[in-house]
Amino acid sequence: MRLPGVGELGQCRLRDAKVLILGVGGLGSPVALYLAAAGVGVLGLADPDKVEISNLHRQIIHGFDTLGLPKTISAAESLAEINPGLNIILHPEGFTPENAADLVACYDLVIDGTDNFATRFLANDACVLGQKPLVHGSVLQATGQVAVFLPLQGCYRCLYPVMPDASSVPTCAEAGVWGATCGVVGSWMASEAIAILLGQRRQGRWQLLQLDAGTSKVIHFTADPHCPACGTAPKYTSLLAENYQPTLCNVPMTDTPLEITIEEAALLLRSSTPPVLIDVREPSEYQVCQIAGSKLIPLATVPERLAEIPKDAPVLIHCHHGGRSLRATQFLRSKGYTQVSNVKGGIDAWSLKIDPKVPRY
Ligand SMILES: [Zn+2]
Repeated sequence: MRLPGVGELGQCRLRDAKVLILGVGGLGSPVALYLAAAGVGVLGLADPDKVEISNLHRQIIHGFDTLGLPKTISAAESLAEINPGLNIILHPEGFTPENAADLVACYDLVIDGTDNFATRFLANDACVLGQKPLVHGSVLQATGQVAVFLPLQGCYRCLYPVMPDASSVPTCAEAGVWGATCGVVGSWMASEAIAILLGQRRQGRWQLLQLDAGTSKVIHFTADPHCPACGTAPKYTSLLAENYQPTLCNVPMTDTPLEITIEEAALLLRSSTPPVLIDVREPSEYQVCQIAGSKLIPLATVPERLAEIPKDAPVLIHCHHGGRSLRATQFLRSKGYTQVSNVKGGIDAWSLKIDPKVPRY
């Protein structure tokens, strides 16, 4: 209550708030713990999974004593320890096309910490239709994103109109994630949620974090009038289950591999018709070293510089080690770029395996 912008009135707003948390995993754990500790009155937890031992390094709301229990029940036990007055509503059936609209209608704010595209797009569309604010978060390895979407001010589909093929991007279970990365991103999501509940957010924002590089960026965006969810002629006007299947074929079909090795990239670049090579690192990194012929478009600026990337020609994307460039590749594919591939290992692999004259850092 002593904090500027909170006071007794703000604390009462938190007490009266009803927040729905989708996924009580790596992101949902810190989100739920901090919102409970902040005095949010009602927390809804939607997660159909059970606690497994491989979850524990990042899903800090659970413990050994709740292995095998539904995550909703395990989380509720921890939250009650923090705030016995908290009203916790369990949705162990998860967040589905069948219940999404009803659930969203019951809450003031939705927080999406799920790890699959189907639920992510469902959460977006349900919040657009229900005119509820949405806090989105995602993590992979040492990178993360936090986004705030407010009613009528742009949505996830303004940035990613089409749900990518589930196999195009590895999940945390496949690619790994640092537990502390989940902690940073989840805590950031909780902070944004509290700011929204206190009335301190007036526009959407999208934040990118690169924990291994120690960098973060905020991107402000506006609603896209052509957006298929929140635009002037929306395509998604109801939550049909067929639009939220885990694997979809509504991205353009392509034979271009999502990722290629550094050796394959070198062969292509030395061919008579080399692909366009885009470097998505930061300018300071580009100054240290670069692959000849590459064009610098830092990751955070890719959405606003799409016009500089050809859609009808092969494109290779690289960064330092391959993490940021994979995100850029996935983003471009969601925008209909079918001939774009990520270069695994990035310029570091180039130095090690192709050209030792390129300095490493
Ligand atoms: Zn939109």
